Amino acid sequence: MRREAGMVWLIGAGPGDPELLTLKAVRALGEADVVLVDDLVHRGVLAYARPGARVIEVGKRGGCKSTPQAFIQKLMVRFARRGAVVARLKGGDPFVFGRGGEELVALRAAGVVAEVVSGVTAGIAVPAALGIPVTHRGLARGAIFVTGHAAADDEPDWEQLARCGLTLVIYMGVARLASIAGRLQAGGLPGDTPAAVIQNGTLSNERSSVTTLEKLPVAARDFGSPAIVVIGEVARLAGVAREARRLAHAA
Ligand code: SAH
Repeated sequence: MRREAGMVWLIGAGPGDPELLTLKAVRALGEADVVLVDDLVHRGVLAYARPGARVIEVGKRGGCKSTPQAFIQKLMVRFARRGAVVARLKGGDPFVFGRGGEELVALRAAGVVAEVVSGVTAGIAVPAALGIPVTHRGLARGAIFVTGHAAADDEPDWEQLARCGLTLVIYMGVARLASIAGRLQAGGLPGDTPAAVIQNGTLSNERSSVTTLEKLPVAARDFGSPAIVVIGEVARLAGVAREARRLAHAA
């Protein structure tokens, strides 16, 4: 499908494993003349770009500073106005802590046609890789996706979240777990609530620790970004899935 005018696809590339790309993401990527790729996107995904497509890295890899958001938006507008089909590849889902909403608003304001291709978000797929369902009949009637990395005056109300009775799925929280776990306990969430931290989920270098809320800060001490933290009864199921896998291997 070639287009007369340019446009932008805001594409979710999934949490890591390139096999978690959607068919639509693969098709949109294959149409693009220009690919703007974020940090967390597995480079294996670029295999689906058109040969000869221009690939521009806009993430922090290699220790460089990330490209400012305003500049990325300008680039997309500029390329699309010149008639290019642009693929903006983001980790996970573009609308979950991905600034995809901001980009869509900016593109539309500039009169650029933009479409969103949803991706598999880390907050669901990474716990799932351990066998943790974020909702589970009898254990959790819902899940909350929350950022652990927010400005001091804009922090989630952890004491209130402690009382919601739902699974807490924390993105970008691994560096601040001591404070987060402390506030959740202060809010009344028992220290023995099951919890898990998973770094590089769905990738070959995935690592995880299944523990309890009170032990979480210590268990996660040497975990770095990107990591997802899950707090709630559902984290118990990680052990069950693991044990089942171990028995399956032994059989
Ligand atoms: N839009 C993305 C989230 C971007 S924010 C999505 O929908 O998944 C970046 C955060 O996502 C990381 O700090 C981490 O908390 C989480 N994350 C992304 N990929 C991950 C992975 N493979 N393993 C663990 N956490 C991951």
